[in-house]
Amino acid sequence: MQVRGRVLSVASECVPLIKTGGLADVVGALPGALAKVGWDMRVLMPAYRALRARLDDLDEVWFEQNLFGGDARVMAGEIDGLQVMLLDAPHLYDREGGPYSGPGGDWFDNARRFAALSWVAARMARDGIDGWKPDILHAHDWQAGFASAYLYYGGSGGVASVLTIHNIAFQGWAPAQALVDLRLPPDQFYPGALEYYGGLSSLKAGLVCADRITTVSPNYAAELMRPEFGMGMEGVIAQRASVVSGILNGVDTGVWSPAVEPMPYSVKSLKGKAANRAAFCAEMGLDVPGPLAVLVSRLTDQKGIDLLETCIPDFIAGGGGLAVLGSGDALLEAAMRRLEARFPGRVSVRIGYDEAYSHRLFAAGDAVLVPSRFEPCGLTQMYGLAYGTVPLVSSVGGLADTVIHASPAALTAGVATGIVFHPVDATGFGLALRQLVQLYASKAQWAQVQKNAMKQPVGWEASAAAYAALYAEMLA
Ligand code: ADP
Repeated sequence: MQVRGRVLSVASECVPLIKTGGLADVVGALPGALAKVGWDMRVLMPAYRALRARLDDLDEVWFEQNLFGGDARVMAGEIDGLQVMLLDAPHLYDREGGPYSGPGGDWFDNARRFAALSWVAARMARDGIDGWKPDILHAHDWQAGFASAYLYYGGSGGVASVLTIHNIAFQGWAPAQALVDLRLPPDQFYPGALEYYGGLSSLKAGLVCADRITTVSPNYAAELMRPEFGMGMEGVIAQRASVVSGILNGVDTGVWSPAVEPMPYSVKSLKGKAANRAAFCAEMGLDVPGPLAVLVSRLTDQKGIDLLETCIPDFIAGGGGLAVLGSGDALLEAAMRRLEARFPGRVSVRIGYDEAYSHRLFAAGDAVLVPSRFEPCGLTQMYGLAYGTVPLVSSVGGLADTVIHASPAALTAGVATGIVFHPVDATGFGLALRQLVQLYASKAQWAQVQKNAMKQPVGWEASAAAYAALYAEMLA
């Protein structure tokens, strides 16, 4: 296939190398999906300690003297089918812990660590690497926000930049005094440029400097211009409204498909789903006459997890059951454990991160709960669609874009794919759980909703086409 253009994708995490959230899924999936429509994308990310073992298989393509306190190099090559470039800067990334934090909490120098990633990205994009010169730099989230700024202020070398917001809650804050250390132009410290409430924000810098801005669902793009969702950035984004667009994420349907589960099933025959449910319930000691709801999530305020303790007792009384997989805030983990202790045989909770177990939950569950207060796109409701595990979601962000509520009209028209509730509080969620119990009891309607869900296209094709169209526009 003829190459339509080259894109340098810059991010802090990428499946299958390292993942803390949905960002990694997207960064890892885009190159393959875009290759199919003629775009050559390579991913630049830090060589964290856990990735250092991979460096031996890669070739050095870039050397950077004194990258914020030490020399660095970029090692490139193919890992697990992905063209990646790892920024090897031991003074910044060779540390015990996760990408953003160590045993003592967030790294004190995160602003520098990701400014460094952005600095190298901008320089490599400008000059090209080893005969490969990108047309576009695609920056993801606050960690790569400064890349657009470095291109904008330091000369773009003909490279256009796009910044994708995966979650506005993380903004890459730094004190104003860091401006020079972060290699930003001091005369740009004013509200219309780099200044952000008296300090700096790499996300804001990216939003101001990027040629285009995208976010991971159309609804989230609109929400971000409102104070309830913009988290302080609403003014900045509204000002750039003419270059903002929303492109829904997809999911990897090679990995997330009931056809590849140990007891496979399909939209034509859901028998396998019943078998998965029965096996799971037997193993976990669950006996659930009504719908078995599952929840796979970070346990944080964003995800509305606190609503469960209030609403689940009524759901259990209606015959429901719940299986939870997640980790996060200690208080929310404790709340989940209390639910399990209170409802033996109806609630099963596993605290931790476990990809294989999450597959089992989607294969076994009747419904997946996503009561988020905000949700840029959300992936688990899409797994739910693919698995006929009916999504019950709050009406925010990408959740509202991907699930069609089982209203009387939608049920009559035969188009409903789940339950969508609003407002995001215990009343809204509680009523939605009641509707779930009722819908599950009307077997014909339930089967219809399940099948509609499974027929929704949730793969990367539509997203890749949308990104390809955006890139083409940027080059035109
Ligand atoms: P976010 O990125 O805000 O955490 P998303 O729904 O976009 O939310 O993506 C979360 C991803 O992480 C999904 O792929 C989900 O299945 C996965 N995930 C979350 N918690 C767990 C867990 N405890 N075990 C396994 N996978 C998890």
